[in-house]
Amino acid sequence: MEPIKYNTKLLCADKNGIDTASELICSGEVVGMPTETVYGLAADALNESAVKKIFTAKGRPADNPLIVHIARLDDIFTLCHDIPPNALKIAKALWPAPLTLILPKRDVVPDVTSGGLDTVGIRMPDCKIALDLIKKSGKPLAAPSANTSGKPSPTSAAHVFDDMQGKISAIIDGGECSVGVESTVICFEGNNIRILRPGFITPDDLEPFCDKVIIDKNVLQELDENARAASPGMKYKHYSPKCEVFLVESTEKAFFEYAKLNAGQNDYLMIFDGDINTTGIKSITYGANDKENAEQIFACLRKADELNAKRAFVRAPSKSGVGLAVYNRLIRAAGFKVITLN
Ligand code: AMP
Ligand code: MG
Repeated sequence: MEPIKYNTKLLCADKNGIDTASELICSGEVVGMPTETVYGLAADALNESAVKKIFTAKGRPADNPLIVHIARLDDIFTLCHDIPPNALKIAKALWPAPLTLILPKRDVVPDVTSGGLDTVGIRMPDCKIALDLIKKSGKPLAAPSANTSGKPSPTSAAHVFDDMQGKISAIIDGGECSVGVESTVICFEGNNIRILRPGFITPDDLEPFCDKVIIDKNVLQELDENARAASPGMKYKHYSPKCEVFLVESTEKAFFEYAKLNAGQNDYLMIFDGDINTTGIKSITYGANDKENAEQIFACLRKADELNAKRAFVRAPSKSGVGLAVYNRLIRAAGFKVITLN
């Protein structure tokens, strides 16, 4: 069946916009919603046909589960069971936050939402617009990143419009996202926490709540062929612009020496604010530190495409703190092509 063509409306993030968006959600439609991480494609998480529309709009594989967004802590008990005590402690202490907890799901959560798994990812976003929309519609909202599957995530309403025009009913324009990368995704293994996807909430933030924080090896490594993914999202191509991305681990000096030898006319360098580029090769800066890198990375990958870049050579961020989240997105955008210089 051909997907319905929508006349995608841009809504203001005011009372009218929230009212309109919540009516659309309650009638089973999909709405682009700002959060502090990236924009999401929101629909009633408990309505199978609405959730299916998210998968259609994104072109997302059916076995890649959606994160369910709530606005009240108590909703965790309606959606999940056997919640580990440290999970509850974390939710109470840190939410609202860019942090998703993987927990055993109750039957009320349809299999389409959980990608057929018996667990579900739950989070309370730290964004007033998203919280208002959840409260107004009175539904838990399934909301994956609002990009076409495989593309860089959207951090502005314009990015969502570029990918979703005609595919969803409306987008709330809440300006630019403050965090810029998707939530940290964690699961619980006894008294340990496993990070399945790094984000703005770092291992240091989680350490006080467990014996050990384990960073899943597939955070920085390609999944082995036939290996079972701890998180289905690890299997798929992600965050990739049209241009070919190379992640270059190096000092500032070595990076520009490498670029002089390897970058051509239609290539771009993605560097840090403060890096001094005297090569004459075109460049885009993506912030001066880990947090700024997170905020700007997806917009910069989209920018490279707007500029018709053939290739982008990206100076790699650190692998610690929020840097790990940026590194995780970039290594996937690069299809695991890392050039290490020293
Ligand atoms: P996105 O919706 O684009 O933010 O991506 C959500 C990520 O969370 C994907 O990588 C999913 O695979 C992961 N995820 C969601 N639900 C689960 C779950 N129940 N178990 C493991 N990973 C999950
Ligand atoms: Mg995504």
